[in-house]
Amino acid sequence: MDLHIVGPLASPIEREAIDAVLVDAVGPLTSAWQGAARNAADGRTARTGHEARSHRDLLLPALRAVQARVGSVSQPALAYICRRLSIPPADAYGVATFYALLSTTPQPVAVAHVCDDIVCRMAGGKQIAADLTRTLGEEGRPALEGRVTWRRSPCLGLCERAPAAFFTVAGASPIATSVAPVDAAAIIRRLEQWTDSSAGAIPGPRSAADAQAVPSPHPGSDPAPTLEQLRASVPQASSAELQLIGRIGRVDPADLHAYQADGGYAGLRRAIALGPHATIGEVAAARLVGRGGAAFPTARKWEAVAGQSAAPHYVVCNADESEPGTFKDRLLLEGDPFAVLEGMSIAAFATGAEIGYIYLRAEYPGAANRIEAAIAAARTAGLLGGDILGSGWAFDVEVRSGAGAYIAGEETALFESIEGDRAEPRNKPPFPVTHGLFGKPTTVNNVETLANVPLILRDGGAAYAAIGTEASTGPKLFCLSGHVARPGLYEAPFGITLRNLLALAGGVPDGRPVQAVLLGGAAGAFVGPDELDVPLTFEGTRAIGATLGSGVVVVFDESADLIDTLLRIAAFFRDESCGQCVPCRVGTVRQEEALRRLAAGRPHGSREQELELLREIGQAMRDASICGLGQTASSAIESALRHPGLVNL
Ligand code: SF4
Repeated sequence: MDLHIVGPLASPIEREAIDAVLVDAVGPLTSAWQGAARNAADGRTARTGHEARSHRDLLLPALRAVQARVGSVSQPALAYICRRLSIPPADAYGVATFYALLSTTPQPVAVAHVCDDIVCRMAGGKQIAADLTRTLGEEGRPALEGRVTWRRSPCLGLCERAPAAFFTVAGASPIATSVAPVDAAAIIRRLEQWTDSSAGAIPGPRSAADAQAVPSPHPGSDPAPTLEQLRASVPQASSAELQLIGRIGRVDPADLHAYQADGGYAGLRRAIALGPHATIGEVAAARLVGRGGAAFPTARKWEAVAGQSAAPHYVVCNADESEPGTFKDRLLLEGDPFAVLEGMSIAAFATGAEIGYIYLRAEYPGAANRIEAAIAAARTAGLLGGDILGSGWAFDVEVRSGAGAYIAGEETALFESIEGDRAEPRNKPPFPVTHGLFGKPTTVNNVETLANVPLILRDGGAAYAAIGTEASTGPKLFCLSGHVARPGLYEAPFGITLRNLLALAGGVPDGRPVQAVLLGGAAGAFVGPDELDVPLTFEGTRAIGATLGSGVVVVFDESADLIDTLLRIAAFFRDESCGQCVPCRVGTVRQEEALRRLAAGRPHGSREQELELLREIGQAMRDASICGLGQTASSAIESALRHPGLVNL
């Protein structure tokens, strides 16, 4: 793309889509110099632009809006956004090209993103891709009169219903919807439906009717799931022992009164009665650690933020759940959104924050609808906004959507994304507790971590700490998928063995033997059938060289092709590396190459030399990468190769 700040003008439709996002914060465009103060002498020299640049965080929402409206981000549209926000075009182009769900080249308005990640591949995802290639052509090519296309996608977070597809359809009423399980015929039927503009599914992109319509910055035509649909994803839904997911499938997630009648907001009320210091004390007594994978003590994080004099403080809920095999955060947001909001409010109260963000992956339109509705209901009820519960304390929450980038789930990359930059992780220190979002003290917690907080405040930290083991307290969520009889989201106290967890899910269908289990997702580790008695705790999994990660449990029976899985994991990290640091950027490519040579039986030199090379690459990535992606990109592959007889390369 040639980048010109002058040149063809953005179309009225593109400008309207962008203005709808910017108008409240930046105001209407009044001249070509919008965002820069005029020189009184000749009226043509920009002197500052500071005001417009201060809205840089609206860059990603503006890019998403124009993409949702016309299907891609054209050069004139990019130039228009740059003028509105005083951003250099090359800079904005770098952002627009960073995210998989944004396209800077024209593409058909309807796109099927077809998951071909670990779990969906086992459930037929590869065959779906082959069928689509045969009927629609290669991925990315226009098909069906040029109005649709399809692409392979990394994990869509619908593993319990694999295989899955996610559809985006640009237009005045943009569509974003997920379908699972799905097959090639169903994908083609959907796409055909959207090629029929006479049916109104896709109004002509340049029609007069479109010009009147205001696009949504959060396209969310996927209605949030019903109670019945939620129950299907939570096989334990009828169990009275559930603490964290007990409301999912039982209590209407759209009804704030139903949430309160079920004990909701008792935690926040108690926190306000206790005060910030004692609230952190309860979380410390619970010994709650982060559930996103890093397992950092939550109270220590909160205490550090609360003690900072810089203002404002922020709370960020990390809902950019993208680890292959993970879907727990989606189900929490879809099935119990007020619990997440209450957890955020308690975190904000304890740390002195008045502003919160939920950073949600774009592939979760149902969760976006649900949490947006919950925020609106909480505001109406005085549970968000000013003077919450008469305490004099104010706090409000905004949802920000990603645009397709696994690395945006890294906490500092997430800040960069919200701030309108490429989602590239920052060097640490400084840490988010002192220099986080917009350079201010910030608490970042995962969705599941926050969902634990109301429970702790309601029952007390000591009662919570009595669940689980000494070093891993509380209930834990596990995402079971692959070759299990009843895939879905499970809750169990820390310490349950892997064998018993698999039994909860009905074991492997037809009693077939387990070949391996992937714990922790692509960044996790394989365990063999001889390790099923490992207790699922942080310390238990560490003792066998594995990890719990975010609670992914993917089961492979004897029929599974583990070499194919390893190659997919290698391709995943090569694709998702942000490219900022050499060990990861180059290492993930070299790792995949070596693995492919071994799988093809054509190693450079001997097989042993190639395996040694893989180990060295893994070591270099672990030692020298900036962030967790590079540091764990070889973990699953190395763990599989360590197990004698698991994979024969
Ligand atoms: Fe980016 Fe990889 Fe470096 Fe992380 S380790 S900063 S993902 S290149």
